[in-house]
Amino acid sequence: MALKDVLGQDRPIEILKKSLRADRLSHAYLFVGEEGIGKAFTAINLAKALNCEKKGDFLEHGLYGDEEIDSCDNCSSCIEIDKGIHPDVLVIKPESDRKKEIDQKKEGNKKKESDEIKIEQIRMAQERFSLRALRGRRKVMIIDNAHTMNISSANALLKTLEEPTEGTIIILISSVPSLLPETILSRCQRIPFGLLRKEVIEGFLISRGLKKDEAYLAASLSDGRIGRALRREEVMTLEGRDNFLTLFNSVKEPFFNISPLTEGIAKGEEERLGEVFDWGEIWFRDIVVFKVTGNYDLLINQDKKKEIKDISERLSLNQLQDSFRVIYETAKFIKLRANKHLALDVMMIRLVETLVEN
Ligand SMILES: [Zn+2]
Repeated sequence: MALKDVLGQDRPIEILKKSLRADRLSHAYLFVGEEGIGKAFTAINLAKALNCEKKGDFLEHGLYGDEEIDSCDNCSSCIEIDKGIHPDVLVIKPESDRKKEIDQKKEGNKKKESDEIKIEQIRMAQERFSLRALRGRRKVMIIDNAHTMNISSANALLKTLEEPTEGTIIILISSVPSLLPETILSRCQRIPFGLLRKEVIEGFLISRGLKKDEAYLAASLSDGRIGRALRREEVMTLEGRDNFLTLFNSVKEPFFNISPLTEGIAKGEEERLGEVFDWGEIWFRDIVVFKVTGNYDLLINQDKKKEIKDISERLSLNQLQDSFRVIYETAKFIKLRANKHLALDVMMIRLVETLVEN
C-alpha cells in the first residue's frame, strides 16, 4: 500500500503531496478526524514515501510526479515500515490499543493494560530520535490516539516539538484533539480528515470480494468510517445482540428494573460492551432500512423480521434517528473513559425519552 491507496481523503493527501513535492514538510503534523477513516494508514504511508529506497534522489533528478513522490511498497524500507521494524519509523500508542491487536490474534492475556501513552514511551522515542537517521532519510514518530498522553507525556513531547531535530517528523493522530494541550496543538500543522462517502467504501468492499448487497449494507452501517466497515466483516456474537435487545426491550420497564441490567453489562468485558453498541446501531439501522424500503432482504437481523417490521410501523424516522444517535454518543463517551454504568444508565434514560415518552 502507498499514499495512492488512501481512500477518499483527497484534500489531506493533496496537502501532503504538495509538501512532499516541494520537500517542505512540517516538522509536526496533527491528523484529526473521526476514528477509522484512514489517519494512521496515511501516516504510515507518508513515512514510507519519505524513506522509500527506490525513489532514491528524485529531487536531484527533478522528478516531481505523483508516482515519484509516493513509496514503491516493495523495497526493504517499505516492508520494514509496514512490519513496524524500521529503525527510523516509530509508532507510539497506548498499551491497551496494542493489547487489542494481540488479542485479536490470540485469546487469553487478561492483564489490564494502560489506556494512556506513558512518559516512558515518549522518553524511549526521544532517545531513539536524538540520533541521526540510521537508515532512512527521515525519522518519523507517529503518535496514535495522541489525546491519551497523560500530562507528563505531553510535557515531555512538548520539548521535542519546541526543539525539533533536523530531519525528524512527528505525526500526532487524534479523534478528540480538544483533549490535547494548547501548547501542543499550536506547534502542529493541523490536517483535517473527513468521513468517507458511502460509495467509496462500498466500492472498496466490492474490490475485496464482498457481494454488492453486502457491500452496500456494510457501507451504510459504517457511517463513513472505512475501519468500521472492515470490522463489520468480522464475526459479531449473538450474545452481544442479546445483551442489546435485553436493554432495548426494557425501555418500558420502571427504571429500578433497568439499572441492574446496565450494571451487569457495564461490569462485563470491554469488547462485549463495544459489541452491544455495534448491535444497537445495526438494530436501529435495520429498522430504518425496513421503514424506508420495506425490503426484508436488506436486513442484517434476518431472524427478527417480524419484530423489525412491527417496530418500524410504531416509531417515526425521527425517533429512530435520535435513538441511533443516543447509542453512538454513548459508545463515544465510554471510549473517552466515562463511567460505564452511569453512561449506560444515561443512555437508557435518553432512549426512554425518545422511544416511549414522545
Ligand atoms: Zn519503497
